Amino acid sequence: MRKLWHFIDGEQVAGTSGRYGVVYDPMTGEAQAKAPLASAGETRAAIANAAAAFPGWAAENPQKRARVMFRFKALVEENMQPLAEMLSREHGKVIADSIGDIQRGLEVIEFACGIPHLQKGEFTEGAGPGIDMYSMRQPLGVCAGITPFNFPAMIPMWMFGIAIACGNTFVCKPSEKDPSVPLRLAELMLEAGAPKGVLNVVVGDKESVDTILTDPHVEAVSFVGASTTAEYIYATAAANGKRVQAMGGAKNHMIIMPDADLDQVCDALVGSAYGSAGERCMAISVAVPVGQTTGDALIEKLAPRVEALKVGLSTDAEADYGPMVTGEHLAKVRACVDNGVEEGADLVVDGRGFTLQGYEKGFFMGGCLFDHVTPEMSIYTDEIFGPVLSVVRADDFEAALRLPSEHQYGNGVSIFTRDGDAAREFASRVQVGMVGINVPIPVPLAYHTFGGWKRSAFGDTNQHGAEGVKFYTKIKTVTSRWPEADMRSGADFTIPTMK
Ligand code: NAD
Repeated sequence: MRKLWHFIDGEQVAGTSGRYGVVYDPMTGEAQAKAPLASAGETRAAIANAAAAFPGWAAENPQKRARVMFRFKALVEENMQPLAEMLSREHGKVIADSIGDIQRGLEVIEFACGIPHLQKGEFTEGAGPGIDMYSMRQPLGVCAGITPFNFPAMIPMWMFGIAIACGNTFVCKPSEKDPSVPLRLAELMLEAGAPKGVLNVVVGDKESVDTILTDPHVEAVSFVGASTTAEYIYATAAANGKRVQAMGGAKNHMIIMPDADLDQVCDALVGSAYGSAGERCMAISVAVPVGQTTGDALIEKLAPRVEALKVGLSTDAEADYGPMVTGEHLAKVRACVDNGVEEGADLVVDGRGFTLQGYEKGFFMGGCLFDHVTPEMSIYTDEIFGPVLSVVRADDFEAALRLPSEHQYGNGVSIFTRDGDAAREFASRVQVGMVGINVPIPVPLAYHTFGGWKRSAFGDTNQHGAEGVKFYTKIKTVTSRWPEADMRSGADFTIPTMK
């Protein structure tokens, strides 16, 4: 079977640990490649390589670093179709969605092209007699990114795009389930002019992650994945003195006010709950109609739309969504639906039995729709990460507002209404990090920042935008004094003040 590799010092490097993970073809259910699982030693070697590349890269002027980003963007655009096909083949999402995955990552690269401006410090002339004060933002050193399976292009680019533009070197540890696109992106970065060692990719599992979290050369760790992993990454990296930002899971609600346009709501819900088979951290997984009449009307309109979803091959341009990433994940999602039925929720549309003709072993699942879900049920409290939508009915606006605000996760939330006052009140009071008003997937653009609240994010800096630049740089403030030659100062033993 085809074996994948690591990408270290500008070269494809075969794994030597003797341990491999399986990369499946989600459409057929068969293994398509073996992913090397890096040992601690292989991971340390990649980190050491990035550390050796750091001084040279950090010394490049920011416009040269920006030019590499411009070339990288152009190269990814030229390679869009093959990259998207590669992504779909391992992840299972349809090609249009893979293009979206790459495009959203490229938007962060576009943002990083502005690094000469973004990384500028501040200057105060004449802070005191003969005294000027200025600050600079310097790179940290080796930064690492540990990324999930569900956005194998966008999330690595969120991280290494800004880290590298700021003058850091980077070790990416992508998901072992679909590592080919991050490996290819590292080749394109080299082709774009980033020196060898500036971007290394190590394919691995917990062993290589634990090495990253404890290696003294690693200055900062960015993570995106499940909340249990995020919490562990945050605690371990912080205990080892590293900067850390760790994004976790989600349970994103959509509040549907009685005045909302239900056709628009249904369009938004089918796209955001079932697109990419629900394997998106910003997928809407809970719909909250306000009032029983709204709830009944919603189910009446939505159920046939869910039944009509076209589940198909990733390569089928007509398919609404493709297979799930692995058989293990499919089994987990099916078990969540079984639990919902056992707990007494009303399974209005049951997609558990779906198979695609000719691809019976593929990891496909039909859309599921639950009604009368209550906040104690596990299908409400836990992230499912599959094509499953739960309807939780709320009696009024206040009850609807409490649901996402009191949930353990606080990634995204959305309200559909024609009432500006209600929308404004909701956006102000809801305890969630990213809010959509008549927008179902409120993912901020690259020049804003991405991050949830509560158990959806550990650490206090968001991804990309100005916060990304802040995360990947440290500030140094210089106070300089050039006294006139004939000025005598003498010793002063009080704390300096500048009147
Ligand atoms: P995951 O936590 O299983 O894996 C993420 C990364 O952590 C992978 O690289 C994996 O190899 C590594 N990892 C897994 N278990 C580990 C352990 N015990 N110790 C050390 N490293 C470990 O997540 P996933 O299944 O790949 O991705 C899906 C999850 O990611 C969902 O919960 C989803 O909500 C979340 N996600 C969140 C965001 C966000 O921005 N908040 C974005 C995308 C995905």
